[in-house]
Amino acid sequence: MSIEILLNEFKTVAENPAKQLADFKAAGKKVIGVLPYYAPEELVYAAGMVPMGIWGSNTKTISMAKEYCATFYCTIAQLALEMLLDGTMDQLDGVITPTICDTLRPMSQNFRVALSHKLPVIFLAHPQNRFADYGLKFTMDQYGNVRKELEKIAGKEMTNEDIQNAIRVYNASRAARRKFVKLASDHCDVITATKRSAVLKASWFMLKDEYTEKLEALNAELEKLPVCDWKGTKVVTSGIVCDNPKLLAIFEENNIAIAADDVAQETRAFRVDAPENADAMMSLALQFAAQDYEVLLYDKFSSQNRRGEFVANLVKESGAQGLVLFMQQFCDPEEMEYPSLKKALDDAGVAHIKLGVDQQMRDFGQARTAIQAFGDVLEMRK
Ligand code: SF4
Repeated sequence: MSIEILLNEFKTVAENPAKQLADFKAAGKKVIGVLPYYAPEELVYAAGMVPMGIWGSNTKTISMAKEYCATFYCTIAQLALEMLLDGTMDQLDGVITPTICDTLRPMSQNFRVALSHKLPVIFLAHPQNRFADYGLKFTMDQYGNVRKELEKIAGKEMTNEDIQNAIRVYNASRAARRKFVKLASDHCDVITATKRSAVLKASWFMLKDEYTEKLEALNAELEKLPVCDWKGTKVVTSGIVCDNPKLLAIFEENNIAIAADDVAQETRAFRVDAPENADAMMSLALQFAAQDYEVLLYDKFSSQNRRGEFVANLVKESGAQGLVLFMQQFCDPEEMEYPSLKKALDDAGVAHIKLGVDQQMRDFGQARTAIQAFGDVLEMRK
């Protein structure tokens, strides 16, 4: 299949999660909504159901969710609830609500109150100390509870083998996405910022085996092309979500390609595989424990600014000239991290800009000016 056809298929999926949901239901499948971050989607897959990511929306406006949310909650959390209240997601069979940040913790209870008459809400708490034995045990207990709740919805128990199989499917998908990210940089003339985003975003709305098959086909086609001789500039993107096509189109207008990303919805979600161990639940706990360089997770060596240095190195190693940080409004973890990240970038001589964004942004004039000016600066530093 041609690159163009494959890219259009990913774009269609990325733009129409509601249609994906309707299609899955029409095919007789049960679908579980999965909120950010680090929910063990493998368990949903192992139960024979479809996990569907819920990362807010770029097209909706907060209205019904206002009844449940403080105004200082980020738009990602509020718009996720909005879609669950306004009927967009009525066909879901359940939803998993992780509680990694100070917004998602209280939000998980808002979800429960707002939705308990509609569908099962599965609470998931991750431990802060995820490496020690007690941290692994805590994760396994929590994942065990998610497993039990999913089994109730699926109407059948899942076996260790079911979960091992799901882990293999997910590891293959993560590997394909890591490969795609590299190929997208090598072929940034073909895989523009908006196309790159659509390919990665589609992974949240498809069954992972079907997604991976399509992505491997795209990777194979890209590998046949000569590495492009890019005359523009390249950046690394960082943040929680960078999927607004109107915002990404500004990169394209200014000949700015994406060399790599440090984005929660993108690379941070597929950086770490689960070990393919005999005990599948332990594999999933070990995978969570192995997550690193993550602003949302506890780092006992944070005083060493390891994450800031990791991101600065990512810019250098990817061949980018700078970094664009998409800072979600009211996102405490990102806002609190910024001074350390800035210090690491400044120390490493990496140019960056910080763009304040939220999902209700409709006017991109300021962002356009900032990206254009940043592109000019990078051009001069090449
Ligand atoms: S954007 Fe920030 S505040 Fe909102 S859910 Fe994500 S981590 Fe929490």
